[in-house]
Amino acid sequence: MEIVPGIHHVNGVRGANCYLAVSGDTILIVDTGMPGNGRRILKYLKGLGRDPAEVGYIVLTHSDIDHSGSAFELKRVTGAKVAIHEGDARSLSGEEKLKEVRGIISPLFKVMAKLIRFRPVKPDLLLREGDEIGGFRVIYTPGHTRGSACLHRPGELLFAGDALRSDKHGNPEPPSKLMSVDMKRAWESVRKIAELEFNILLPGHGSPVLQNASKGVRHLLISKDS
Ligand SMILES: [Zn+2]
Repeated sequence: MEIVPGIHHVNGVRGANCYLAVSGDTILIVDTGMPGNGRRILKYLKGLGRDPAEVGYIVLTHSDIDHSGSAFELKRVTGAKVAIHEGDARSLSGEEKLKEVRGIISPLFKVMAKLIRFRPVKPDLLLREGDEIGGFRVIYTPGHTRGSACLHRPGELLFAGDALRSDKHGNPEPPSKLMSVDMKRAWESVRKIAELEFNILLPGHGSPVLQNASKGVRHLLISKDS
């Protein structure tokens, strides 16, 4: 589904939301869902009349398997460069274990990890705060994972990964407490995001927030602080 011109949400991807940003010669895949979604994503791309070889970058907002799971297969077919913030590079490449989840859902996660095969990917590009990639600015927003990052097009939109969520009415919601490695940093990242201007918020989970999104994020902080 095209959300705004050139920005697509790939329907039916399991795991996290997968987006395509298509502008002229540059095609970005932002997050890839769980393992096994590569074919679906490429089918969507072909439906736009574009060729897999045109994908320049596969940008991962962080290394969690529901976002990075199909990066391996997509990289193999497209030849695109895989980019992730340097803080999550080692978990993506398999040099470190993927994030472990605490609390009541932890046993479920351990079972899932045994059933689903994660194929590590060595990133081609390590992102840092302020970098530009495919017309977007990298905003470092740790807390959900150590190397979580957002992509920002000033005044327009933000790919938030899991630094923010949205509710079923399309309003911004805070990051998940259960799933975040450091909730204090996660809130600091929300504060940082609230200083940016963007109309549309494209979260890793849930529906896009289609208007006044940065105002909505500032409201979250007001309700938290009051
Ligand atoms: Zn996620």
